[in-house]
Amino acid sequence: MDDTLGSVLSPAPRPSACPGLLRIVPALDGGICRIKLACGCLEADQAHAIGEAASRHASGVIELTNRSNLQLRGVRTGHEAPLIAALLAAGLGPSTPGADDVRNLLVSPAMGLDANSEADVAAVAKAILELLQARPAFHSLSPKFALQLDGGERLAMLDHPHDLWLALMPGGTRLAFGLAGCPTDAPLAAVPLEQAPALVEAALALFLELAQPEQTRMRHLLANLPKETFLDCLQSQLAFALPRDPAVLNWRRARTMTTAPLGILAQRQPGLFLLGAMPTLSRLDSSQLHALAELARSRGDGTLRFTPWQSLMLPNVAQAHAAKALRQLGMIGLHIDDSEPLTGLIACTGSAGCAKGLADTKADALRLAHRLHQGTARPQVHLSGCPRSCAAAHVAPLTLLARPGGRYQLYQRTASGAGLGRLLADSLSIDEAADRLT
Ligand code: SF4
Repeated sequence: MDDTLGSVLSPAPRPSACPGLLRIVPALDGGICRIKLACGCLEADQAHAIGEAASRHASGVIELTNRSNLQLRGVRTGHEAPLIAALLAAGLGPSTPGADDVRNLLVSPAMGLDANSEADVAAVAKAILELLQARPAFHSLSPKFALQLDGGERLAMLDHPHDLWLALMPGGTRLAFGLAGCPTDAPLAAVPLEQAPALVEAALALFLELAQPEQTRMRHLLANLPKETFLDCLQSQLAFALPRDPAVLNWRRARTMTTAPLGILAQRQPGLFLLGAMPTLSRLDSSQLHALAELARSRGDGTLRFTPWQSLMLPNVAQAHAAKALRQLGMIGLHIDDSEPLTGLIACTGSAGCAKGLADTKADALRLAHRLHQGTARPQVHLSGCPRSCAAAHVAPLTLLARPGGRYQLYQRTASGAGLGRLLADSLSIDEAADRLT
């Protein structure tokens, strides 16, 4: 092992139930190793390295997460160190010791490519990621503490609450921002693009200064502190003014695409396209990842992008290759249009791999998809093995929540957004649920 790897590995990862690249946590089906991808991007060489490591040191199952990351399941006992070393050698680790957990910045998978965006915010994203890793104080943030940078893309996840969010305003020069919410919420103020990293740095430092040890998320702090007070404190620590004029306070980020991007999507760059595809229930095997890496090399720009819808995209595919490349994605075993019922279903690990699971949600989702194939309904359903709701950071239109005995409560999301929504049925078998949903 070279010195760089040694220095990254040297600090013992802090205790947490959340997996990381350096902290492999146990599950019923073996260890889980989570690889946080910078802006959801992966190069073909790195994809090959992950596929190889998944086969050699784990079960070969690679999960796509709802934060555009990847995780390996079934890490074998005794294989933890060589797995970590292989991933670090592929350049997938943090830039500095102790920074593995803090790399939580969600961006659009179409960042820099989306015709709807008035500016490319990639440089801001890079600066924020570097800042998060470089400042040791930020390494004490909860592994769940997360930021979102919305560049105004049509393709944007707008339903996941974040501790701090920034969203590009019309004109493409200012970012509105807010705390403990989503970019569709009312902004608190705005900053020019170039001042966004300084704003983030000051906001996180202020959070760490004000929060009690048990207040690990921004929403915990703001339960006892008005947002306006936080904002006033923040302003006092910045060398530039935070505009709070009506043009900012009355602006709302418009809702755009809300489901996984599938098929061929135009880019802002003429003649180039993004191809979207979804693996079955968020899981790839290593042979699929190897095939995707080769497809990215032969048809795209040698990169893959992962999305918060637990799907993936091949960027920068020339028009002449797009249709064939999409068919090749289908031949790899991915779903490429929403006529497939599985593209509307998400399911957590469930009882097959998680001790908290009250039902085998993955198997039940496959059974539900089989039943949906017999009709035309294509509902969006989240099957959750317990109330922790690991597979979805937002409330799905329909939720099947497992109950003891492997039966389900069925909920329908309501406009108020409270809880999982309205309880439609209290105890359904998966077949009874399928009857309701078809
Ligand atoms: S939602 Fe519950 S059952 Fe499903 S993976 Fe998370 S903890 Fe396990």
